[in-house]
Amino acid sequence: MPHSRQAPLSIDFAIVGGSIAGLACAYSLASAGHRVRVFEKFTGRPTNSAGIRVPPNLDRPLREWGLGAKLDFHAHKTARTDCFHLEDNSHQGFVLWHSDILHESGGVFCTMRWDALYDMLFELATSAGATVTYGARTVGLAPGTEKDQRPTLAFADGSTYTADVVVGADGVNSTIRGLVTENVGPRAGSFEPEAMTAYSVLLKTKELIVDNEQDYRKVLFESAVDTSVWTSDKRWIMAFPIARGEEYSVTLYCHDEYASKETGGPDGLDYVPTSSLDYTGFHPIAIRSFSLGTNAMRVSYRNILVEDWVDPSSRILLVGDAAHPSLPLSIHGQSMAVEDAIALGTLFSRLMRRDQIAQLLDGFQEIRYERCKFVHFSELATVRNVSLPEGEEREIRDINLRRASLERNDETEDEATLLSQWEAIGSVFGHSARDAADEWWVKWGTLDQRTSVFDAVKLGMGMQVQEVTQSS
Ligand SMILES: Cc1cc2nc3c(=O)[nH]c(=O)nc-3n(C[C@H](O)[C@H](O)[C@H](O)COP(=O)(O)OP(=O)(O)OC[C@H]3O[C@@H](n4cnc5c(N)ncnc54)[C@H](O)[C@@H]3O)c2cc1C
Repeated sequence: MPHSRQAPLSIDFAIVGGSIAGLACAYSLASAGHRVRVFEKFTGRPTNSAGIRVPPNLDRPLREWGLGAKLDFHAHKTARTDCFHLEDNSHQGFVLWHSDILHESGGVFCTMRWDALYDMLFELATSAGATVTYGARTVGLAPGTEKDQRPTLAFADGSTYTADVVVGADGVNSTIRGLVTENVGPRAGSFEPEAMTAYSVLLKTKELIVDNEQDYRKVLFESAVDTSVWTSDKRWIMAFPIARGEEYSVTLYCHDEYASKETGGPDGLDYVPTSSLDYTGFHPIAIRSFSLGTNAMRVSYRNILVEDWVDPSSRILLVGDAAHPSLPLSIHGQSMAVEDAIALGTLFSRLMRRDQIAQLLDGFQEIRYERCKFVHFSELATVRNVSLPEGEEREIRDINLRRASLERNDETEDEATLLSQWEAIGSVFGHSARDAADEWWVKWGTLDQRTSVFDAVKLGMGMQVQEVTQSS
């Protein structure tokens, strides 16, 4: 269960966007005792889906939310990642995900369909009492007044809804963001492509194994027992099994000059024919395999940094991709959205008075901002590594990978690999959003209670002094 704690004061939350962040927040807040309504512009359950990677920091909280059996059914555990050159399909080496070390994080690394996660969160949110309204496109949002601080949402059909707090979970092209802050600009000072695009196809494993002309799986996925990456200059392909091994999710990532100029659909995603993509320099096997999917889901990314997640009236909050846009079809898009939900639910399970709302929303940004930034930079480091141009740095990467692979063909790892995995697990995968929120509460949230006690003591002392004065 997410919280054994029920908030002493229940308030109304309106969540704009009913995808991963919106549904996860709806569950976390509803199970802390709040009244939650989700407004989603899609007219029903979304039909677009590619594969997702579920890192331990997503797997663990989902299991804590009681989704273990469903995860075991839908997810494919990742034990190793093989690397190949995209130009000639030669094998570079592999990385083993050491099970003992992953175990320390309390979760596993796995892969599954995005819509399987969506369905799980939808069921959780609605069974906790949240309501989801489809076909509700938010077109406006009016902050509250001094007299009534509650913000009011306006929908495309002319209707409105007023809540104590509005949560903008409306994705990378968020409408709510423009109403919260003007402080949005490109992230600077790091390796960060200005634009990136991911194209993803879902292939039936059966079709890969049995093909009229060639056994594609044997060729492209020769060593691809698990997750595989084909690396190249500013482009790479990642493939992994999903849906109990019945499907393969294959994604082509491009940045800068190879990225599409269009921004994709209004949600940052749409579909394009695979025949329209630029495969210059790819091995023919990679081109044929990718083209087995006729249309690819396209997700685009622009380098955006959102400085303020809470509006000046302290009643509107951004979460998920609206607050911290993730790289397209990245490892951590979903995990950061669910961590946001846990932190928000944990904080608001402490709510006692309406005048605490501002403090809790600020606390949310304080807890989540640096964490999301850190995880984003760790993903960028991986992106950089798999998309290095030809040259010395790429050769060193390949030598290290080959050497590491030769030294182990089972789970007996060299110390350096163990140490680096240990560090990755501790800092990225081992994070607990609930612990972070609880720690913040102990440090800051109880401050006004402590102040009240202190004031009461002072007041008591004052009365004593008065009494003494009077009696003397
Ligand atoms: C249909 C869909 C399929 C996806 N498939 C994958 C996938 O296969 N793999 C992957 O890694 N990532 C996928 N993503 C992206 C992934 O969900 C996010 O990167 C990440 O999980 C963060 O989620 P989010 O909820 O913050 O944003 P998003 O998932 O982008 O959700 C934003 C939601 O807000 C809704 N919305 C936007 N504007 C409004 C408005 N004005 N009024 C009401 N609602 C609004 C959108 O319709 C959407 O449902 C998908 C997203 C969507 C919407």
